[in-house]
Amino acid sequence: MDILLMGPPGAGKGTQGALLAEARGMPKFATGDLLRDAVKRGTPLGLQAKELMEAGHLVSDDLILGIVREELSKPAAGKGVIFDGVVRTIPQAEGVERLLAEQGRSMSAVLFFDVSDDEILARLAKRREIESRADDDPQAVAIRLKAYRKQTAPVLDWYEDRKLVHHIPAVGSVSEIAEKVSRVLGK
Ligand code: ADP
Repeated sequence: MDILLMGPPGAGKGTQGALLAEARGMPKFATGDLLRDAVKRGTPLGLQAKELMEAGHLVSDDLILGIVREELSKPAAGKGVIFDGVVRTIPQAEGVERLLAEQGRSMSAVLFFDVSDDEILARLAKRREIESRADDDPQAVAIRLKAYRKQTAPVLDWYEDRKLVHHIPAVGSVSEIAEKVSRVLGK
């Protein structure tokens, strides 16, 4: 079973994805985490992504699809993956569909974590105090939200057309939201 987590920055995809991965014994794969790690280690991938990421822009579709291809080639990914924030443009949605199809797979479900803009801004401001992520400064946040609305929101419609989307109101406690997720996915 392959599951995609979507939602605006700060919607809680990472937190819920980690819980879901543990509950289901599935690997979780987050392009944001992977890229941040590459930037920290100064790898060629990190050098390519650094400036764009820190300014709040998306990195290129080719770069993302290369990473997804590599991830899907790992034995641990053979039975299904939780894709956390991995698909953010229509070409990426098409590319991931193609890569999964090469293995006789397709996306089983898309969980959309729904939160208001006010809540997002409050959460990111709080996270900035705790984690000091370069892209949580107010200017980069504004750019990320804009990129989300312009490039990623249409991806939700793409999956809606394929009847894959489940809306999760992402407010309440972490465990309440996790409960909603497991109800939606069933056992
Ligand atoms: P957020 O969801 O809060 O933006 P992430 O940690 O998921 O945070 O992503 C951080 C950054 O990594 C993004 O702003 C973008 O630059 C880059 N990134 C992650 N995934 C993708 C993707 N699928 N396509 C393009 N860029 C991505």
